[in-house]
Amino acid sequence: MAIIYKDEDANLSILKDKTIAVIGYGSQGKHQALNMRDSGLNVIIGLRKEGKSWNMAEEDGFKVYEISEASKISDFIAILIPDVEQPRIYEKEIAPYLTKGKILGFAHGFNIHFGLIRPPNYVDVIMVAPKSPGVRVREEFLKGYGVPALVAVYQDATGYAWEEALAWAKAIGSTKPGVIKTTFKEETETDLFGEQCVLVGGLMELIKKGFEVLIENGYQPELAYFEVLNETKLIMDLIHQGGIEHMLKGVSDTAKYGGLVYGPKVIDDHVKRNMYKILENVTSGNFAKEWMGDPEKSRKKLNELMSEIQKHPIEKTGKEVRRLMGIEK
Ligand code: NAP
Ligand code: MG
Repeated sequence: MAIIYKDEDANLSILKDKTIAVIGYGSQGKHQALNMRDSGLNVIIGLRKEGKSWNMAEEDGFKVYEISEASKISDFIAILIPDVEQPRIYEKEIAPYLTKGKILGFAHGFNIHFGLIRPPNYVDVIMVAPKSPGVRVREEFLKGYGVPALVAVYQDATGYAWEEALAWAKAIGSTKPGVIKTTFKEETETDLFGEQCVLVGGLMELIKKGFEVLIENGYQPELAYFEVLNETKLIMDLIHQGGIEHMLKGVSDTAKYGGLVYGPKVIDDHVKRNMYKILENVTSGNFAKEWMGDPEKSRKKLNELMSEIQKHPIEKTGKEVRRLMGIEK
């Protein structure tokens, strides 16, 4: 059973007299900064002056500094800008100001685990990775609760790294539901595997291929859309609420029988073998090299793939159907 820390395992006092620089004011940065400030911590924001977030952070009442200045005057630097941007910004604007005993915080293990950021051995390197988008981190906090998170320590230079990580998790509300102890390696590898095989990649391909088979066989695209996309949410809500058996109990006997017998024939051992290969591509570091090795090339490829997706017929049908149903304006 995983080790789960709750509110009573964490103490804010270790961060109370420290200056915390949240670098980035986006999905995680903004909402974590607001939560930490409401928890009584001393938070400043580090940003680029020409960016869009600067004014927003100021309007929310924070003191905002250039990233290098924020790194210089703080004790705890939480790096909450996009992962792809981190290595460059770290080298130029953070690393020069890392003095002995400072804390470096991440919300995802990618850059540390794959060695794209290599902090000096005299700083603490910790992670609190909320298992939800930043907006929810704030919403749940305002309700007096929080979202679960993963916590890890990569480097404990001061001997206090775990206390610091748990205090950070508590300050954003995550120790209320509980935080799971993990490592940078485990968080990074499972996150990449999950998004490639099941969540983003797997689900999207399953839906697309289901749609293609129906329309290639002459069925109306609108019907196909309802069958293979719209209803995935209803099924997923049931699974999320009570597990797989609960979902099965909520569908017809015909659907139960058909799904149980033919599901494994679609997502068969061949698919599982593919997943093993994808995991190997992640753990070997090949994926990290492919994605981060040449950021410009990756960005270009990503843009191409995004415009291909826009052209898929399911997107056109989806727009029409969602408009009809009032889901999308
Ligand atoms: P994000 O919303 O995309 O971050 C945007 C912020 O980063 C903006 O304030 C932006 O400022 C700043 N920024 C972007 N590029 C910059 C650059 N080159 N120099 C300076 N500032 C820059 O990022 P995020 O999604 O919160 O992700 C932050 C971290 O949290 C990542 O490690 C991610 O893996 C992790 N995480 C995210 C989520 C999530 O749901 N989003 C969940 C768990 C963990 P400007 O206005 O100046 O552009
Ligand atoms: Mg991810």
